Amino acid sequence: MDRVDRSGPQNVNHHSSCHSEERSDEESAVLCRAESLVFTLSANTLIFPLFLRLSVLCGKVFCFAEDALAYIQFLGAAGTVTGSKHLINTGDASGKNGFQVLIDCGLFQGPKEWRERNWSDTPIPAKAIDAVILTHAHLDHCGWIPRLVKEGFRGPIYATPPTIDLCGIILPDSGHLQEEDARFYNKIKKSKHDPALPLYTFDEAHEALQYFKPVQVGETLQLSHELSFRFVRAAHILGSCMAEVSLKADGKARRLLFTGDIGRVHDHKVAPGKVVHSGPQEGESADIVVMESTYGNRRHPKEDPLPELGELISATARRGGSVIVPAFAIERTQKFVFILKHLIESGQIPRLPVFCDSPMAIKAVEIFLKHDEEYSDETREMIRKYGSPLAWPGFTFASTPEESKKINEARMPSVIISSSGMVTGGRILHHLSQRLPDPRNLVLFIGFQAPGTRGFTIKSKSDEVKIYGDFVPIRAQVAALEQFSDHADPPELLQWLRTFGNQPATTYLVHGEPNASGQLRELMARELGWDVRVAQYREKVEV
Ligand SMILES: [Zn+2]
Repeated sequence: MDRVDRSGPQNVNHHSSCHSEERSDEESAVLCRAESLVFTLSANTLIFPLFLRLSVLCGKVFCFAEDALAYIQFLGAAGTVTGSKHLINTGDASGKNGFQVLIDCGLFQGPKEWRERNWSDTPIPAKAIDAVILTHAHLDHCGWIPRLVKEGFRGPIYATPPTIDLCGIILPDSGHLQEEDARFYNKIKKSKHDPALPLYTFDEAHEALQYFKPVQVGETLQLSHELSFRFVRAAHILGSCMAEVSLKADGKARRLLFTGDIGRVHDHKVAPGKVVHSGPQEGESADIVVMESTYGNRRHPKEDPLPELGELISATARRGGSVIVPAFAIERTQKFVFILKHLIESGQIPRLPVFCDSPMAIKAVEIFLKHDEEYSDETREMIRKYGSPLAWPGFTFASTPEESKKINEARMPSVIISSSGMVTGGRILHHLSQRLPDPRNLVLFIGFQAPGTRGFTIKSKSDEVKIYGDFVPIRAQVAALEQFSDHADPPELLQWLRTFGNQPATTYLVHGEPNASGQLRELMARELGWDVRVAQYREKVEV
């Protein structure tokens, strides 16, 4: 299948010849229509193969596929790891709209230039989108849903039951955090916006939950006469799936695979502490793959991290310090809690008090306990042996602000796990602003830190970090363990891709920093011989 650049009015397509970015959208649209007309005339007078026509327009070669069934437009997670949003439109890229589905609807996080895009409208009106298919409950994949609803979207949002349960706590919490931030910036008058507004509120996030519709893994759902989809396991976090989308029209068919985030391989030694079962669905086949590339330029260490983790925690306790662990409230926190329990019970670390300070922690654990069909063997064994983590002696799950404040007053040493994982907001800010200046403490990262986030600044061993408008000196020890990632690294991705039943016509890499996507592209082209391209923000590709 040929990849075609037939650009629409909103396109900023680097391959496109008829659009310049300086040209206004309307000018481009008019010009494109004019070109299409010239092109049709020339195609009728010259004999070109029916399936592929070439024409020289604007001095450059321009090609059109006649057999395209839809186009995909990358509205986020292109050139960055956040803001996942991929639009499928069964119309054509010249402006005729068909059935429109958004795969994921995530929040941009990290650098300001990306975060500001949370405030831009989608290039097509929210109410013109027919449905959302959600791969999993991380904010960078689901966090823009309440805003989409606020802007008029009223269609179904398809997700697995665990993803829906997790969104039920994550989205209102996100609204709450944004209200808190807006209130704070209004109080200290440090925002250039007056007044600072939340992207959406707690109530608006709640409102959005009514549009979620559960879909079981493996169940096929027909969304329109030409588009159906089913979920297959991604093994990234609880409930996470890839979306297999089938297009059928005019006797033609295409299968698109949107991977969402891809979990680790089946090997428990290289991917320790997995709470849910490991390994993405094998034996896939697709014409077009839209694939994540978060770890495209890095490899996970292959050694067991537990001895190093045990030593880091024990050394901090010996010098009277506390261990502060910024962690995503979902999956990573639970995984780390299970590992701490294992280290304590096996005598590898002292019996320190463990605080999980995230308003979501209790609810998240309850959701985990509800979906025991997703457990790994280790998780099943831990729960059989020790019961619910909520009742483990020495483990405190703080839900109220008062309980959170008590942790601040607690005597050292202890282990404090709090969100957000990249230190972009939440209670971790208070713990870090209080404990970063003390060299006895340890800040331990167990997850990816996107450039531009406070987590990235701290992990890069800067001298200070800005928290709530003030610079806090970083004197605590900073360490990072990379083995706890829930994203497959390049060798693991290749291992999974080698199980494919066919060679996809094109694979588009998304959800990666430019370096990561670029290196993975080269690796896949070299090792597999696949046609791999790095998706560009707002680029449209016909499929
Ligand atoms: Zn994720």
